[in-house]
Amino acid sequence: MSLALSGVGVSNGVATGRAHVPQREVLEPSEYVLPQHLLAEEEARFVRAVNAARQRLKGVRNQIPVNTPVEIAAFIDTHLLMMEDDALSKAPIKFIKKHHYNAAWALKMQRDVLVAVFEQIEDPYLRTRKDDVDHVVNSILRVLLQSDDEIIDPLEQQRSDAILVVDDLAPAEIMQIRQRGFVGFITEHGSPVSHTAILARNLGIPALVSVRGAKRYIQQNDLLVVDARESVVLVDPDALLLDYYRGRRSEDERHHVALDSLKQCPAETTDQYAITLQANIEVAEDIACVNATMAAGVGLYRTEMLYLNRADAPSEEEQFENYLQIVRALNGKPLTIRTLDLGADKPWREGFNAVNPALGLRAVRLCLKEPALFMPQLRAVLRVSAFGDVRMMIPMLSGLTELQHVLHLMDEIRAEFSRDGIVFNPEMPVGAMIEVPAAALMADAFCEQLDFLSIGTNDLIQYTLATDRLDDEVNYLYDALHPAVLKLIQMTIDAGRRAAIPVAMCGEMAGDTRYTRLLLGMGLKQFSMNPRALLEVKRVVRSTSMCALTAPVERLLRATAHDEIAACVTVINEGL
Ligand code: PEP
Ligand code: MG
Repeated sequence: MSLALSGVGVSNGVATGRAHVPQREVLEPSEYVLPQHLLAEEEARFVRAVNAARQRLKGVRNQIPVNTPVEIAAFIDTHLLMMEDDALSKAPIKFIKKHHYNAAWALKMQRDVLVAVFEQIEDPYLRTRKDDVDHVVNSILRVLLQSDDEIIDPLEQQRSDAILVVDDLAPAEIMQIRQRGFVGFITEHGSPVSHTAILARNLGIPALVSVRGAKRYIQQNDLLVVDARESVVLVDPDALLLDYYRGRRSEDERHHVALDSLKQCPAETTDQYAITLQANIEVAEDIACVNATMAAGVGLYRTEMLYLNRADAPSEEEQFENYLQIVRALNGKPLTIRTLDLGADKPWREGFNAVNPALGLRAVRLCLKEPALFMPQLRAVLRVSAFGDVRMMIPMLSGLTELQHVLHLMDEIRAEFSRDGIVFNPEMPVGAMIEVPAAALMADAFCEQLDFLSIGTNDLIQYTLATDRLDDEVNYLYDALHPAVLKLIQMTIDAGRRAAIPVAMCGEMAGDTRYTRLLLGMGLKQFSMNPRALLEVKRVVRSTSMCALTAPVERLLRATAHDEIAACVTVINEGL
């Protein structure tokens, strides 16, 4: 019998596939003491197991598609190197010879020795590297114990048409999920504005978060339909429902063809106001989608993906090359590089143990505390500014002191570059994200020192309403239309207008067609969004008359009650 579970959809698509519900693997070898005459064979068995595990991993390495972020391959390479290291490939043999242990137990003994060393390391980040030891040990143990394969191990299994059902996912895991061939995912927890959800949306992976009871009701291999638009997952749908979804798919395809015809059309309202529609990207490969939708450049490049899934920070050179690749692909269109926004749900070394990660050492705060992390990026951004229309944007500013500190570091680098003859654009625009209420309230002062502002509604909403964007328990309070949020957005737009500097919006609100007309009516002229949403937003822009918006938007901005605001939005969106 079919079962429907509801959650919160994070993209528009539908995915059909078999459930993969990972079970925590228990790989507990038993201890045996072997007689002398069996030792040589046990040694050989261990060597064969290491080789088999290595071959398996190499097989995965060879199947990585060419456009995969380099860090995925680097991650696998690290594990391959560890497997080849004497500490794992030879030391257990000594245990077999000396103590007559069986191979699995000998490996476990050596694992304990290595983990004990890691545990004594003070650096919390390096300490967590013991997980890599466990990962590699488990892949050898799995061969030795002939463990069955029903375990999620993103590095070791290529799936097709599978839908992952888990408690929660970290942003770093999303990239691996896509590489492993999952067509969708469902999490019991999480929120639609988490970075995990944003990544899924940008990658076009249909997903549902906050599906209570998912792991209880969904069994391994159940047939699932994830309908992200309707925020529902169907378990074992009957023939009628499958038929309906086949129909929906054709309907969606027709809709996409119709939207495609808008690519060449200008983004302007019916009364000829030109609107700039740009794209948000997470990795260099996203540029293909940006160009395919003919976006007017990149309004937000979230550079932190380059830092995730790896042990060390990318060098200045690696960052420069990465930015250059994007600048070239954009062919003269602007690239807005946001400086690192690590911390909170994208942990980097220290900081992920923060008392309250969303309010802790995140983004520019972390960067200013760790110049060794920040300076290579600032240098790379400035260097690449010589090659195209590059802009730099600073996230999470809460006051002018932080801003001045960053501007001072930029001045230092400019002076050094001028001295050393390194080319850069001295006029490279520098802007700020307005995503902390304090920054919105200070927007006039920010305008005096900057070339542009960009409103990050994902964080602005969470910080204004004191509602953690990751916490599904308080999702119901997360409201883009809250009058306090709208007031801060309006203040920022007005400050930009007074100072004659551009104000964009790059939070998820900018790509949500429910808000397009409202934002246009508030005076927003630049939107940056998930490129997959761009043509849909363009369609709304092209069906909107700015003049007709003035009165209903003014009415909405005066309203304070939720129902009244909702009614105003309905009026504004009439005919969509
Ligand atoms: C935002 O906060 O709106 C934003 C665009 O930044 P991020 O989602 O990466 O925090
Ligand atoms: Mg943000």
